Amino acid sequence: KPSVIFDNVVFGYEQDRTILHGLSFEVPAGKNYAVVGPSGAGKSTLARLLFRFYDPQAGRILIDGQDIRHVTQASLRAAIGIVPQDSVLFNDTIGYNIGYGRGDATQAEIEAAAQGAALMGLICRLPKRFDTEVGERGLKLSGGEKQRVAIARTLVKNPPILLLDEATSALDTRTEQEILATLNRVAEHRTSISIAHRLSTIADADRILVLNEGTLAESGSHADLLRQG
Ligand code: ADP
Ligand code: ADP
Repeated sequence: KPSVIFDNVVFGYEQDRTILHGLSFEVPAGKNYAVVGPSGAGKSTLARLLFRFYDPQAGRILIDGQDIRHVTQASLRAAIGIVPQDSVLFNDTIGYNIGYGRGDATQAEIEAAAQGAALMGLICRLPKRFDTEVGERGLKLSGGEKQRVAIARTLVKNPPILLLDEATSALDTRTEQEILATLNRVAEHRTSISIAHRLSTIADADRILVLNEGTLAESGSHADLLRQG
């Protein structure tokens, strides 16, 4: 299990406007950290930097002690599984959607992995048959079902790091709680970073980082932060 370190990271999309002002934090190997903060604080930016959609203007980002600029795109993509807020599904079968991005895997391997996800209760509410068509011409999935497929798609790749970028915040509270219960179980065996805007969704995090205007405003346990208001 790898650790994730942001070491004095400075970044702005435009030259004259800095978004992250020397952001530093460490997510120790195997720990589940959450990142909260007001809209515009830089939470998604942090996620994009970790995935190298952009590189910092100063500072370093380390995975397992290695500067991610020295890691190949392929191993970076294999190391980090991302679940975004609004996942896009293809008008194709559930199996295709879960297996997408695993060009090397056979349908049988994908289905075996997906069955594993089903055992974790992740896709118990989906049709059991993976050749079921979803989307415009097929079965219309609810937002929660779509997110379950997207999470299964990420998990079958078995990434050691899980990056959840508001993965459940578009869902109703009940669906959110169900999916969070599964995600918390899955995250136990990995290093994870959950970006969230509701404190209630990250009560199980080992530590919560509060981001404000591109710097770490404070950090602590859920109880610590509630105590401070
Ligand atoms: P959060 O996820 O905490 O809401 P973001 O990381 O999305 O915050 O945004 C941080 C700041 O960066 C905001 O001021 C936002 O307007 C700006 N920003 C985000 N994406 C871009 C972009 N692609 N180009 C320019 N500015 C951006
Ligand atoms: P390699 O030697 O494996 O090609 P590099 O670290 O030289 O790896 O470069 C990888 C990418 O990271 C390049 O696109 C480079 O522009 C960028 N890069 C490397 N070092 C820095 C740095 N200090 N600041 C910003 N970008 C960098």
